[in-house]
Amino acid sequence: MRKEGFLPTASKSLLHVVWPSSCPVCGRLAVKVCPDCLRSLCEFFSRFCVECGRGAPCARHPDGLICCSVSAYGGANRDVIHVMKYAGGRNVASMMGELMAEILPRPDVDFLVPTPLHKDSAREYNQSELIAGGASRVWNIPVKNSLRWVLGSRSQASKNGRDERALPDDAMESDYKIRGGRVLLVDDVCTTGNTLLAAKKALSRAGAEIAGAMVWSRSV
Ligand SMILES: [Zn+2]
Ligand SMILES: [Zn+2]
Repeated sequence: MRKEGFLPTASKSLLHVVWPSSCPVCGRLAVKVCPDCLRSLCEFFSRFCVECGRGAPCARHPDGLICCSVSAYGGANRDVIHVMKYAGGRNVASMMGELMAEILPRPDVDFLVPTPLHKDSAREYNQSELIAGGASRVWNIPVKNSLRWVLGSRSQASKNGRDERALPDDAMESDYKIRGGRVLLVDDVCTTGNTLLAAKKALSRAGAEIAGAMVWSRSV
């Protein structure tokens, strides 16, 4: 029985040795993801309340954080996101930001603020920062890296389920210096919303006005 799947798997492995990457959408070799394939994933626009996950505007949270996402999580997109985060997909992250800025209306904000990497992260780059950089080039709005985690990722609540155990208010901190400035939060994926809400609290404490958030994809 196991032999049936052996050859295709072995062939794929061999191909990856010769061409270490292939587009998760169309399978084209020697690319992380084709620009056109990435664009084809942007077919699921969503605007939602981060506090409860319902569509925006939200009657329950009239002052809640509103987030826009441009693609559906899952299928090839899940693989694209994995490549973007873990397989050297810096350029994919930048392209995602550019696409988001082409699709979404330009926000009336002073800065784009990416969510930070976790304190104990061994990752070489922050994909949220690269996404923000891509959007920054299209919108001509500067990126401000002003957030950092106070909590280590191990001390965070479980990510199972929606926000039964929200993070403490001081899970993140900001060195934002311009009181009254407006910002748009940028992240790659919104799952429970806890990260974006921690970012919002940190920036609010620092005196910023949070206009909203944008993510490539929403995982629910
Ligand atoms: Zn492709
Ligand atoms: Zn809500």
